[in-house]
Amino acid sequence: MAPQMELPRIPEPADETDVMREQLEYLIEHAALAGQCGCSDCQRYLRVRAVLLEIFAEPQRAKVQEMAPQWARAA
Ligand SMILES: [Zn+2]
Repeated sequence: MAPQMELPRIPEPADETDVMREQLEYLIEHAALAGQCGCSDCQRYLRVRAVLLEIFAEPQRAKVQEMAPQWARAA
């Protein structure tokens, strides 16, 4: 999943940024492909999404709930 460990000589902070970007892309892709399978990755996606969209206020939140009603019970 994270083949970037091949570069131990360059422990730059950019690596972490890349990992975060990768993770985000992975989660978005998973949510898009798997839809609402409800696995731990889906839940990570929802958490990340909630945090990232937090500053855009309430209308987005209604959208999330509308999109994933089945996670409401797990939360
Ligand atoms: Zn899933």
